[in-house]
Amino acid sequence: MKKLMAANWKMYKCRGEATATAADLVSRLSGALPADREVLVIPPFTSLGSVAGALAGHAGFVLGAQNFYPSAQGAFTGEIAPEMLRDVGCRYALAGHSERRHILGEDDAMVGRKVAFGLSSGLSMILCVGERVEERKAGQVEAVLKRQLAAGLTDVPATVTPEELAIAYEPVWAIGTGLTAGPEEIVQAHAIVRAFLRERFGAVGASIRILYGGSVKPGNAGQILGIDNVDGVLVGGASLDAESFTAIVTA
Ligand code: PEP
Repeated sequence: MKKLMAANWKMYKCRGEATATAADLVSRLSGALPADREVLVIPPFTSLGSVAGALAGHAGFVLGAQNFYPSAQGAFTGEIAPEMLRDVGCRYALAGHSERRHILGEDDAMVGRKVAFGLSSGLSMILCVGERVEERKAGQVEAVLKRQLAAGLTDVPATVTPEELAIAYEPVWAIGTGLTAGPEEIVQAHAIVRAFLRERFGAVGASIRILYGGSVKPGNAGQILGIDNVDGVLVGGASLDAESFTAIVTA
């Protein structure tokens, strides 16, 4: 599997800026995208269509969504269905990002519904997991990760493939703070996730990608990508600028 280099643009950029950044990224990486890397751009909903246009026809670039509601359609004012995301060109979607868990109040059960429904709707899902600082200080990293993985993957079929599912380990205390988990912390957390995946999915669990996220920057990306069981990165702040994200993708 290629390393997945994901740019989560959160609630930044209107259409013009998002499209220009995506086009800039494509042009900077044209002929320079390492063969073992895949670039995933995850803009806000309103820019999905125009960013899809900017990425179209460029090998190695795919589009993703930050969120959806786990239902095919219906009276869910303000929500977006997976089919609508596929219709606009999305291949991937996130579930369980810490900002949705801790700011928008999404619980483990809702995250599990999203992962299962997204997969059954034909999206590839990235399940985000990660502990808060107080949980780390209390020695609960393994328990928190196992709880979030168990709930997030509850209804995922045993037939899931590594193309359809990835996990992002994102310690909450490292997201948007400038603090990055150290190599030891990443090794330990990713080993916990890998062991869980092997137990849950057997041999396939060895190939499901595990991304690291949390203040990844051009200066630390190379080291992080070299760590065992790091199969890509999920980048927020440093992905907003095409030059900085290009440096991460090629690190
Ligand atoms: C994220 O949004 O998933 C993230 C890791 O953000 P940042 O890179 O800004 O810490």
